[in-house]
Amino acid sequence: MLLTKGAKPDGSTNYAQGGIAAVTSPEDTFESHIADTLEAGDGLCKKRQVEILTKNAPKAIEQLIKWGVNFTTAQDDANSFDLHLEGGHSFRRILHTADLTGKEIMRALLAKLKRSSQGIDFIERSTVLDLILQKQRCVGAVVAEQDAKKARAVYAKTVVLATGGAGRLWLHSTNPPDACGEGISIAYRAGAALQDLEFMQFHPTSLYAPQLKKTFLISEAVRGFGGILKNHKGEEFMNNVHPLRSLAPRDIVARAILREMQLTGKDYMYLDVTHRKSKDIKTHFPNIYAKCLECKIDIAKDWIPVVPAAHYMCGGVLVDSYSRTNIKGLYACGEISATGVHGANRLASNSLLESVVFALRACEDMKKNCLNPDFQLSPLSTLNSQLSTLRNVSKLKKKVQTVMWEHCGIVRSMEGLRSGFEKLMKLEKSSDFEFRNFLESAMLVMESALKRKESRGLQCLTDYPEKNPRYLKHFTIKKHPE
Ligand SMILES: Cc1cc2nc3c(=O)[nH]c(=O)nc-3n(C[C@H](O)[C@H](O)[C@H](O)COP(=O)(O)OP(=O)(O)OC[C@H]3O[C@@H](n4cnc5c(N)ncnc54)[C@H](O)[C@@H]3O)c2cc1C
Repeated sequence: MLLTKGAKPDGSTNYAQGGIAAVTSPEDTFESHIADTLEAGDGLCKKRQVEILTKNAPKAIEQLIKWGVNFTTAQDDANSFDLHLEGGHSFRRILHTADLTGKEIMRALLAKLKRSSQGIDFIERSTVLDLILQKQRCVGAVVAEQDAKKARAVYAKTVVLATGGAGRLWLHSTNPPDACGEGISIAYRAGAALQDLEFMQFHPTSLYAPQLKKTFLISEAVRGFGGILKNHKGEEFMNNVHPLRSLAPRDIVARAILREMQLTGKDYMYLDVTHRKSKDIKTHFPNIYAKCLECKIDIAKDWIPVVPAAHYMCGGVLVDSYSRTNIKGLYACGEISATGVHGANRLASNSLLESVVFALRACEDMKKNCLNPDFQLSPLSTLNSQLSTLRNVSKLKKKVQTVMWEHCGIVRSMEGLRSGFEKLMKLEKSSDFEFRNFLESAMLVMESALKRKESRGLQCLTDYPEKNPRYLKHFTIKKHPE
C-alpha cells in the first residue's frame, strides 16, 4: 500500500530539474565522485555510505532505464548520455531528461506502478499523522484522509517513511507545499533517532518573481552551462569570493548573493546566460525558458532575477546502509532519511541518486529480513479518533516560517537561534494535527542548530565563524522513553 498526502506527482521529485549524478563516462571515476561528495560534505560525510552511493549509481541508473526512464542522449551519439556539469563536480556526470528529470522519473515509476500485477493499493490525499508501535516494532500508521474528520489505522508488515523534505518550514522555499518535514516529528514521537537536521541547504538561485504563487527554481545546471551571477550594476561579484566563481558550491553562492543583496539593498541579484546561443538555451532548458517567459523574462536576452530559498534537508531520520532506522520494521528513504552521504552539505544531484540507491537497498533487506511472519495484515481498520482542525492554520504556519527564515536561515547566530526557539515555544500548542507536526518539526530543526557551535557546511554562525574540530561529529536527537 502506498499512501501519499497530495495528489500523485506532488513531491519534490516531480520538481527536480537538473538531474541525477552517476559515473557513466569512461574518463570519469568513482574515486572522483567520492572525492567531490566528501569535499562538499565538509568533513561530515559517512565515507562508507558515500562509497555505497557512488558505486551503486550506474546500477541504479540501469534500473531506472529498465523501468522506462528516458534520459537525454548525446546529440551525436544516441548510445551515450548527454552529461551536464554542476557545481562541485569535477566531471560531467549529471544524467538528465532535458530540465524535467524528476518529472520523467515520476512518470516512468507511476506507469510501472500501474502496470504492476502485484496489487499495490495507491491511496492519494491521505496524511500519515503517527506511526503505530507494538512491542517496540513499527506495525503501521495512523492516517487521516483529506476532508475526513477521522483518523484510521493502517497496519503493515513493514513501514517505509518517505515523506520527503522540509523546505516549507521556511518562508521562502523551492519545495512543494507538502514538503514540511512532517516525517521528522512523526518519526521522533515513535522514538526514531534524528541526525544532521541543522544542515538545510538554501538554493542560491530561485526565480525572483513575486507574482508567482509557487517559487520556481533556476537549476544549478544553468550555472554549469555558463551562467554568470551579476549585481544590478553588472559586476560579477563571485569573482572575489571563490576560485570557481559562479560555479562555487551552493552554500558559498547563497551567502554571497545574500551579502550582495544586503550591501546593495536589492531584493535579488541576476544570473546571465545571454552570451550563450538562444537555440542552445532553449534546447537545454525548455522548462526554465518557458517559465521565465511567462514572467516576461526572455532568458536568451534578459538577465534572470534570482534569490536564495530553502531547498534541501541533508539530515533527517537516521538510517544505516539498508535504510533501516533504529526501530524494527521501520525504514526511511529519500530526503527524510539521514544516510550520512551528504555530511554538512549536499553535492548537487546526489539526492535523487541517494533516494534510488538506498530505496533499492531497503527493498533488498525487506525481502530478506523484515516481512514479519507473525503479523496479520489487516488493510484499513477504523481508529475512529476524532481529528481537530484549526481554521487559522495557514496563519500559524506563516509565523513559524517567518521565525525559521529570520532565526534559522542562511546565516545564523546562537543568540538568534535561542530567541527563535523561544518564539516557537510561545506559539499556540494547538491540537490541529497538521500544525502539531509542522511546529514540532521546526523546533527539532532549531534544536539541532543550537547544538552545533561552529560554522561548517550549511551551518553558518556569525558568533562562531570558524570550524571547530571538537564538532567534527554528528548530533543525534532522540526522544527519551516515557
Ligand atoms: C525544485 C527542486 C529541484 C530539485 N532538483 C534536484 C536535482 O536536479 N537533482 C537531485 O538529485 N535532487 C534535486 N532536488 C531534490 C530531490 O528532488 C529530492 O530530494 C527528492 O526528489 C526527494 O524525494 P522523496 O521521495 O524523498 O520526496 P518527495 O518526492 O517530495 O515525495 C514525498 C511524498 O511524501 C508525501 N508526504 C509528505 N508528508 C506526508 C504525510 N504526512 N503523509 C503522507 N504522505 C506525505 C508527499 O505528498 C509526497 O508525495 C530538487 C528539489 C527541488 C524542490
